Amino acid sequence: MTPITHFCFPLICAMAVDSPRGWQDPPAFTKRELIEIGIGGMLPDIIDPHLSLALRLGSWTHSIIFVLLIVAIIKIMDVHHSCRWQHWFVFAVGSHLFLDALSGGVRLWYPAEHVVGGTLIPFFLWLPIDVVCASTAYFLWWRRFIR
Ligand SMILES: [Zn+2]
Repeated sequence: MTPITHFCFPLICAMAVDSPRGWQDPPAFTKRELIEIGIGGMLPDIIDPHLSLALRLGSWTHSIIFVLLIVAIIKIMDVHHSCRWQHWFVFAVGSHLFLDALSGGVRLWYPAEHVVGGTLIPFFLWLPIDVVCASTAYFLWWRRFIR
């Protein structure tokens, strides 16, 4: 998947699931928190960029080790005071692995060779999925902050 989908997918989930209780309530997350969650979704590719599937399959950031490292960093450094935000940030990193597992696979138990997932979402669908994700994220953002 592309960084656009990796950014938008956790953002969409956070805005859709963790929405305000009613239309009069303030948003559950601030704009900054939502953008941080989106960046969390791109984090494995930001820290270890790659252009080919072979390089992704050799990437330690696309493994459970990286997710556990993120959990440890957040907990040890107390990166953010909101426990809800911490959970959503870890979800965002995990969603990256999930999406990449559907679109080529990941070595979840790196350095073990076993590949989890496969090409369930072919490459030609990546761009349309980007458009759908970006449009949905923009709509939810607009409904929450601009409307
Ligand atoms: Zn990736």
